[in-house]
Amino acid sequence: MTSANKSCKRVLSGMRPTGKLHLGNYVGALDNWVRMQDEYQCFFEVADWHALTTDYADTSRVKQNSIEVALDWLAAGLDPEKSVIFIQSHVPAHAELHLLFSMITPLGWLERVPTYKEQRENIQDKDLGTYGFLGYPVLQAADILVYKGDVVPVGEDQVAHVELTREIARRFNGFYGTVFPEPQSLLTIAPKLPGTDGRKMSKSYGNTILLTDSEPVVRQKLKTMVTDPARVRRSDPGNPDVCPVGDLHKIFSSKETMAKVYEGCRSASIGCIECKGWAADSLVQLLIPMQERRKKFEDNPRLAWDILEAGSQRARKTAAATMADARAAMGMSLAYDEPKQNGGK
Ligand code: SF4
Repeated sequence: MTSANKSCKRVLSGMRPTGKLHLGNYVGALDNWVRMQDEYQCFFEVADWHALTTDYADTSRVKQNSIEVALDWLAAGLDPEKSVIFIQSHVPAHAELHLLFSMITPLGWLERVPTYKEQRENIQDKDLGTYGFLGYPVLQAADILVYKGDVVPVGEDQVAHVELTREIARRFNGFYGTVFPEPQSLLTIAPKLPGTDGRKMSKSYGNTILLTDSEPVVRQKLKTMVTDPARVRRSDPGNPDVCPVGDLHKIFSSKETMAKVYEGCRSASIGCIECKGWAADSLVQLLIPMQERRKKFEDNPRLAWDILEAGSQRARKTAAATMADARAAMGMSLAYDEPKQNGGK
C-alpha cells in the first residue's frame, strides 16, 4: 500500500525505554506496528518520561536506553519515511496537556485504574507512592490526544487506560468545546510467548531472548529452555501443545517444520535437542536481517539520533497545532485580545 492509500486515522503508541527489546516486545507490539505504518498515520514515542514514573532516582541510563529502543524499532522495520518516530520529552506539549488534563481528572478515576491497584499491591521494591505514578494514565491520555489520536493499539491490560483517555477527552470537550477525538482501542491479539523458563517472556523474570542476541546466544538459550515435563526420557512421546518450545515453533516456524515437530514429538522419533535446534533456526532466520539493519545504525550512531530529532520536530509541529486548539477552546490563547468594551458599546 502506498502512503497515498493510507487511512487518515492517526495511531499513537509507545514503549518505555528500559533497555534492549526482546521477542515478547516484538510479538506483543512491534511486529504489529510495522504492519500498521502502511495503513495509518503513525506516531511512535519513546516514552522516556514514563520511565521516570517508577524509576525516578537514577536517570543515568534513560537517554542511552531511549536510543537502544529506537535502534530496535528501526531494526524491526519501523520506517521514519512512513511514521513519526520520536522521543516524548523532546515534545514539551505532552507535559502542558498533561497539566491541563490533570486539572480536570477526578482522583477517583485514577485510583480505580486496575493496573494502578495491581502494581501498588505487587511491586514492593519501588516507591510507587508518588503523584507521577498515580497520574501516569493522564500523561498517557496527553500522549495520545496531543496528536488527536484516533486509534491506539493495546494489549488487554491497557484497554482501561484508553477508556480513561476517552473519558478525559469527553470531559475536556464538555467543559470547553470539542477539541479531542475519543480514541478507539485496537486490541493486539498476541500469541502466548513463553520465555526460556516456560513463564511469560519478561525482563523481570530474566528469561528473555533479545532481538540483539547473536546466533550462538540464541542457540545456547534454546538449549536450556524447558520442555514438555512429561517427556522425561528420549523414548517418551511428548506433546508440543504443552511445551514452551512447541509454542515458539507455532509462532516462528514454517508449516513444514511444525508438521515435523508434531509428528516427531508425539512418536518420540525426534529428541528435544533436535527440535530446539529447529526452533533456533527459525528464530535466527527472523533475527539476522534485523541485526543487519541495526548494525547500519550502530556503525553510524548519529544517524539514529538524527532520525529521532527529525521525528520529534514533526511531532512538535502536530502537537503545537493541537495545543493552539486547546488553548483557544479554553479562552487562553497566546494571541492578544482587544479589551472588551462595557456592554459592547
Ligand atoms: S520434541 Fe520439541 S515439542 Fe516435543 S517436548 Fe521436546 S522440545 Fe517440546
